Amino acid sequence: MIPEPPPRQTLSYLRNLFEAHGIQPKSKLGQNFLIDLNLLDILVQTAELTPRDLVLEIGSGTGSLTARLADQAGRVLGVELDPSFVELLREEVGHRENVRILHADVLKNKNEIDPRVLTALDELRRESGCEGVKLVANLPYAVAVPVIGNFLISSLPFERMVVTVQWEIAERLLAGPGSKEYGALAVLVQSVTEVSLIRKLPAAVFWPRPQVASAIVMIQPDAEKRARVGDVPRFRRFLRDLYTHRRKNLRGALVGLPNGRQDRTEVDRKLMQLGIDSTVRAEMLDGEQHLRLCEMFG
Ligand code: SAM
Repeated sequence: MIPEPPPRQTLSYLRNLFEAHGIQPKSKLGQNFLIDLNLLDILVQTAELTPRDLVLEIGSGTGSLTARLADQAGRVLGVELDPSFVELLREEVGHRENVRILHADVLKNKNEIDPRVLTALDELRRESGCEGVKLVANLPYAVAVPVIGNFLISSLPFERMVVTVQWEIAERLLAGPGSKEYGALAVLVQSVTEVSLIRKLPAAVFWPRPQVASAIVMIQPDAEKRARVGDVPRFRRFLRDLYTHRRKNLRGALVGLPNGRQDRTEVDRKLMQLGIDSTVRAEMLDGEQHLRLCEMFG
């Protein structure tokens, strides 16, 4: 059976759909829907999907993006937390043979993906023979950062992430040393991937209209970079600890690390060995310097 073409997710389409189902969008779940059809297409095109891809979509909402993904990918796993949308999704895309909808919170907690999501991805990969996994989603803003971080440290063979995030998060992903947005997130992500800005999105392309702009970003894992980092979860923990007190200089931040306190002279001696000035702040250092710090202090 040939599935129907994806619905045209316009403002009037959404209003009618929600009225018919008695649904009110909930802002605390980040329910802002893309109503610019070109942008939905850009998300899908940027993912460069093939029938050998398994796509993970987090927050499938009304299923408009899900249907577009299913047209091009081998399999799609749509994860949705809100039961009203799960019901809607089963009506809208449930008949597509290559789509599975999972009613779950994608996160078990801030540091862990819900194991049901990982199990479903494993099952779908095995039964379909799909090789790579791609995350393509208009991410709910409250979970965007932990979702990206937790999937990056997972052992899943991610080939690409194409996601919409709030503009402020895009800035934190793309920032370079010395800027105020640069911190643990930029260092971690840029140390294991290539991040690129695909498009800045004005608030008006979503309904209901959010307070802030957003962006489509693409994150491509880089095997060589990852091999250089080695133990990625350890590096992530170290970066979190290092940036807990952003305003301290490097010596202060390292002396106060929670994993066993080190005295100042010891810290200064090790920093001198690395050729790093102990009075600068961590946010002035590049990725390689952070890695060397982690090897010494992590
Ligand atoms: N994919 C749709 C689109 O592009 O128009 C909707 C995206 S909307 C920004 C985010 C969706 O994520 C909502 O449907 C919301 O209910 C869902 N959501 C929010 N928090 C979630 C979580 N922790 N786990 C899974 N889904 C979540």
